[in-house]
Amino acid sequence: MNTKYIFVTGGVTSSLGKGIIAASLAKLLQSRGLSVTIQKLDPYINIDPDTLNPYEHGECYVTVDGAVTDLDLGHYERFLGVETSQANNITTGRIYQNVINKERRGDYLGKTVQIIPHITDEIKRNIVALGSTKKYDIVITEIGGTVGDIESLPYIEAVRQLKWELGDDCVCIHLTYVPYVAAAGELKTKPTQHSVKHLLQNGVQPDVLVLRTEHPLNDGMKAKVALFCNVAKDSVIECMDAPTIYEVPLMMHEEELDMVVMRHLHLDTSKEPDLAEWKCFLARFKNPKKTIKIALVGKYVELPDAYKSISESFVHAGAANEVKVDLQYIQSENVDESNVAEKLAGMSGILVAPGFGGRGIEGKITAVKYARENNIPFFGICLGMQCAVIEFARDVLGYTDANSAEMDTKTPHKVVDLMESQKNITGMGGTMRLGAYPCEIKPGTLAERVYGTTHISERHRHRYEFNNDYLAEFEANGMIASGMNPDNHLVEIVEIPSHRFFIAGQFHPELQSTVLKPHKLFTAFVAAAKAFSEEVNE
Ligand code: GLN
Repeated sequence: MNTKYIFVTGGVTSSLGKGIIAASLAKLLQSRGLSVTIQKLDPYINIDPDTLNPYEHGECYVTVDGAVTDLDLGHYERFLGVETSQANNITTGRIYQNVINKERRGDYLGKTVQIIPHITDEIKRNIVALGSTKKYDIVITEIGGTVGDIESLPYIEAVRQLKWELGDDCVCIHLTYVPYVAAAGELKTKPTQHSVKHLLQNGVQPDVLVLRTEHPLNDGMKAKVALFCNVAKDSVIECMDAPTIYEVPLMMHEEELDMVVMRHLHLDTSKEPDLAEWKCFLARFKNPKKTIKIALVGKYVELPDAYKSISESFVHAGAANEVKVDLQYIQSENVDESNVAEKLAGMSGILVAPGFGGRGIEGKITAVKYARENNIPFFGICLGMQCAVIEFARDVLGYTDANSAEMDTKTPHKVVDLMESQKNITGMGGTMRLGAYPCEIKPGTLAERVYGTTHISERHRHRYEFNNDYLAEFEANGMIASGMNPDNHLVEIVEIPSHRFFIAGQFHPELQSTVLKPHKLFTAFVAAAKAFSEEVNE
């Protein structure tokens, strides 16, 4: 079968959840036996989000091949359980960079290089490149931004051209918003009509409309939208707010989004999707036996999107443990010795989050100390591990000025130091230690019990590392390195065997947790927190 292409555009406003709709549709198609991948095209000029502040963009998601990407790729992987790569996230910056590199090489043979056809050709090349791997029956391409934005125009034009070239192997889904005007007591479809007009002006007729709404649409409204927008009535799909994003695939199946799309692509719809495992997860997720509180100590807590993969990992791990994890976001800048007991009161587990730079770092170290001294389950991720190392050096080894070279270049006790490979790097974007690296686990450790194996691979995004000059001293005093990179001996996991559950990793386990395969470190941490809460309550 030819690879089929599905385009997802958005209108009216941003934040409508195009990524979740794309991932949900992909899940439904996958559960019907098709192999699916999802790609996100981001219309900004940055090459990737690597240098973006989390407040701008939320979390950076890192793929196995070391691409720093939009957080929607996290949703794609969590829904599908299929790895993505650099090819799944392309920005305008990357498109232009490729075109300009070609121009400098002389590839354009003296032609004037223009948005059409050169930029649009490069966009099209990046879309069909995924299809030409022959690995996928379906490629879903989500166009970031909102129709009508100047920066989205070349993408819409590329979709127009591809729609023409691909014919029946292509379908366009447009996601819009139907606002409820309270004063009139009415839902309004006008913004949808205008947004479709905008697409039409750019030469793209959507085949399917997905209408996000907070109130149910009646049949008349769907018929009206269909009439005004040249779309079949059954191709107008209602999408109500869902209590959890993981419910959306089921809701979209009920609304027959998968059927409609498959009919447009002339695919066989006789087989029902197999969603048994997904429903099993949802049942566990919706019927927790109890609630436990876990603290996420970080500095971007006003913007939970900055920790998206972590919070989703707790959803997966909570369901696996039949508990609801009530994640409490604690601003590390506000934590100090005098209030830490109060701020972390009632927590069954403490997670210290990844991050960069000095803001809030002392609060994170204080939170580690509180967890270590009070035998409360602790889990550190990346900077969280580095904080655990600094705290141990200060409070157990007695190096009161211990720090990471990132925070204090002058301290004589850099227990966390810049990696050798990072010392000559000048550019900031895409130059960290990125992507998946192997890790060997020491037998007989908590890490081995958690993973059930001694060979693992985890994803990274950092510049600093545990300073091995101090390793023997740490181990002699009770903090061991239970996981190491076999090639360069970078410490990947530390733990305190005398503690009930104290483990931290230099890598980002949250990037590998999926709905159907929760990450073992998260499930073990939640299990430890659950056991701890039961002990405390007895
Ligand atoms: N800032 C630290 C480093 O670069 C930790 C990075 C992180 O938490 N992702 O090593």
